[in-house]
Amino acid sequence: MSDLLLNYINGSWQRAEAQHQAVRNPASAAVLAEVPLTPAAEAARAVEFAQAAYLEWRQVPATERVQYLFRFKFLLEDALDDLARTITNECGKTYAESVGELRRGIENVETACGIPLLMQGYNNEDIARGIDEHMIRQPLGVVAAITPFNFPAMIPLWFLPYAVATGNTFILKPSERVPMTSAKLFALIDRLALPKGVLQLLNGGKETVDALLDHPYVRAVSFVGSTPVAKYIYSRAAANGKRAQCQGGAKNPVVIMPDADMEMTTRIVADSAFGCAGQRCLASSVAITVGEARNVFTEHIADAALNRVVGYGLDDGVQMGPVISAESKTRIESLIAKSEAEGAQALVDGRGKSVRGYEDGYWVYPTLLDGVPPDGEIARTEIFGPVLSLMHAHDIDEAIQLVNARSYGNMACIFTNSGAAARQFRAQAHAGNIGINVGVAAPMAFYPFSGWGESFFGDLHGQGKHGVEFYTQTKVVVERWYSNWSRQF
Ligand code: NAD
Repeated sequence: MSDLLLNYINGSWQRAEAQHQAVRNPASAAVLAEVPLTPAAEAARAVEFAQAAYLEWRQVPATERVQYLFRFKFLLEDALDDLARTITNECGKTYAESVGELRRGIENVETACGIPLLMQGYNNEDIARGIDEHMIRQPLGVVAAITPFNFPAMIPLWFLPYAVATGNTFILKPSERVPMTSAKLFALIDRLALPKGVLQLLNGGKETVDALLDHPYVRAVSFVGSTPVAKYIYSRAAANGKRAQCQGGAKNPVVIMPDADMEMTTRIVADSAFGCAGQRCLASSVAITVGEARNVFTEHIADAALNRVVGYGLDDGVQMGPVISAESKTRIESLIAKSEAEGAQALVDGRGKSVRGYEDGYWVYPTLLDGVPPDGEIARTEIFGPVLSLMHAHDIDEAIQLVNARSYGNMACIFTNSGAAARQFRAQAHAGNIGINVGVAAPMAFYPFSGWGESFFGDLHGQGKHGVEFYTQTKVVVERWYSNWSRQF
């Protein structure tokens, strides 16, 4: 019997009177749990609790608020193995990848522990004779985050620690495809003995999200997911007068210069393209070779694609897991077929394969598409699977033109030994996260996750100081006191 997952509302676990949906292990298709699709009325109830909790929580000094986060960090460390296994089982990535995402998530908890300093305002004495001016940061109220399937622990932790450390109350609506990791995170949160309603977990889908977007008490919404949904959430939140930061999809190019160290470059690009089965918003999905890099890189990367060990992420030696669902596998395979119809050639073809002992899993092996036409649909479409397209350019200018022809702008990378080439790329590439001899340019917790273009809607990004600014509103105070003392000057 699979588990019936619960919501965490006002400090206790509650069963939703709702339709439930199966959560499956993508390596075996086995049902792991049933997740409720929480209806609008129940979501509104959680928001009311969050609003009541906010009125108290905002008065708790920041130095006390972060004590809960310090404890949370140590509970996360203790639960690392169990959390990583849960991520692998519901999301498909390897155990090492699951541990990696947990580390990046925990870094955000650590960073948010610095809120007493990060949240400081600024001030001037005597902006006019006897008058002072201050800027202080205050929390917003109830805030919500809606998160995707591909990083079930890290992405909620991009938002949750900053939101509560700054004095807001926070509701997480995780992906209904990977809700078990959030349930485990909230089992740890339950042990923190936070005031009721400060942190809540609402499982669900579109109806649950819409209820949060429409509720007047919800003041800000953080979203990570596909671009069409990011656009929808951004516009509906804005129409309702809310702040929104919405991270969307990606199509990330890497440029390989002829002077790059080919062995290192291939290893890094293979990990970027095929790691997490290509289901990373910072996965490289287009490799643009410049000049003579073409033949040698193509040969090396084809080898790496053929030799990647695919399987169940908890088995030893496995380097790549399945994709998230049967629909996703079908979609990826049909996009590979479409690229062939557009004139590309599958140098390595990952379709129609399986893993012994896991025949029902959603397997797509690493795939390499050569000669993808730059003006075709596949060059622009996010595949979100282990598929790397190859393109070729004569020089760095042409390569940068290809990089900048996309509407997405999550990440762009260059592999080179030339400082001049790297510098030109850094200056001219249209993307918010740049990698130089790095294949997954994921910002640390104390830097913003800086997507551009169709990869981000909003202005303040997640993480670090941007997160603190997003979750606070500024108040400026101009202040005069009459006194004999001030007249002496
Ligand atoms: P998704 O857009 O399908 O779902 C994301 C969230 O939105 C889920 O919680 C889901 O329940 C909700 N949702 C889905 N459809 C909705 C609708 N019509 N109305 C309201 N809510 C809706 O994304 P996904 O498939 O879970 O995640 C993969 C996508 O996320 C990829 O496009 C990937 O590039 C992107 N992503 C981006 C980043 C980034 O930092 N830019 C990070 C991770 C993932």
